[in-house]
Amino acid sequence: MKYSEVKTLLEKLPKAELGFFPTPFYKLGNLSKELGVNLYIKRDDFTGMNLFGGNKVRKLQYLIGDALSQGCEYVFTFGATQSNHAMQTVSVCRRCGLKPVLYLVALVEPDKEDMRSNLLLDHIMGAEIHIVNLLPGEEEADAEKRSVQMAREHMKRLESDGHKCYEVPMGGASPMGSVGFIEGFGELMEQAKDLIGKEPDYIYHATGTGGTMAGLLAGRALLGFKVPIISIHVSWKDSEYPGRCGDLANESLKLLGIGPLVDGSRDSRTDLNYYQPGYEIPNEEASNAIRLLARKEGLLVDPVYTGKAFAGLLDHIKTGKVKQGSDVVFLHTGGATALFAEKEILGQLF
Ligand SMILES: *Cc1c(COP(=O)(O)O)cnc(C)c1O
Repeated sequence: MKYSEVKTLLEKLPKAELGFFPTPFYKLGNLSKELGVNLYIKRDDFTGMNLFGGNKVRKLQYLIGDALSQGCEYVFTFGATQSNHAMQTVSVCRRCGLKPVLYLVALVEPDKEDMRSNLLLDHIMGAEIHIVNLLPGEEEADAEKRSVQMAREHMKRLESDGHKCYEVPMGGASPMGSVGFIEGFGELMEQAKDLIGKEPDYIYHATGTGGTMAGLLAGRALLGFKVPIISIHVSWKDSEYPGRCGDLANESLKLLGIGPLVDGSRDSRTDLNYYQPGYEIPNEEASNAIRLLARKEGLLVDPVYTGKAFAGLLDHIKTGKVKQGSDVVFLHTGGATALFAEKEILGQLF
């Protein structure tokens, strides 16, 4: 299917026009020379709404469109205290006159006297914030489940008083959210055609909840491209992850009236080698990647997501997994607010 036809399908879904699109796409000349590949960047850190954009805005255009079309008043969402997704959700809610409520798991305990990064922005924008502290011995995943239970009880109370609520899952990773990256993939490929003149050899990006990857896989299948999409993990995931993302991709396609096209384990290429020691915990390779991009291109990536993904790309180039002379696109998914986060998140950057 052509991108123009996909756009016609997308127009059938409710959408809030929230960001600034298309986001920039250009070649990183200095690093290309140094690394021996043609390296391009897709700047989805420039989606808006505020100064700190990121990939969640593409998903939120459809999620908030859905919330508005249902006449909702409150939007509930989840994440870590320094969640980019939560901050971007607050921003788009404020723009649309919706009331944002956050249930945030404190992986790093916030300091009330020295509020940092996204949590500071959430406070400035006046979100209703509920911090969920880890219980002694509690796993992250269990605290996340607990935060969802608490939020659902909260929503029930509001609904019974006549206030309509909309639940956005962590990362905006839902069929409606991932639709945003069917569109994002099409936009990227149009720009690649103009600038490179052909399909790129690889697309690299950071993957977390998997909503972005699902949308990219769905977009690629729908538009009939072959370009490998290399998804670098930023946290541990089990072996079912690709399959689940494939299912999510097919659910997104279903919203457009298209049958299943994606087999997650066949179509995805994920790499678990670069997230250690864990989510929101820095590593030396990511710190090196952050410095390299900053010093060669004046470009900022973050320690939690894009720094780790770029470290993965650099290693794939070094080890020959990406051949010299290849056309490589790095999808910059945002996250630079983490450069102003607690020092546990930041790592040793200079
Ligand atoms: C959320 C996020 C990702 C991962 O996207 P998912 O859709 O959750 O997989 C990557 N980079 C940044 C900066 C993010 O905030």
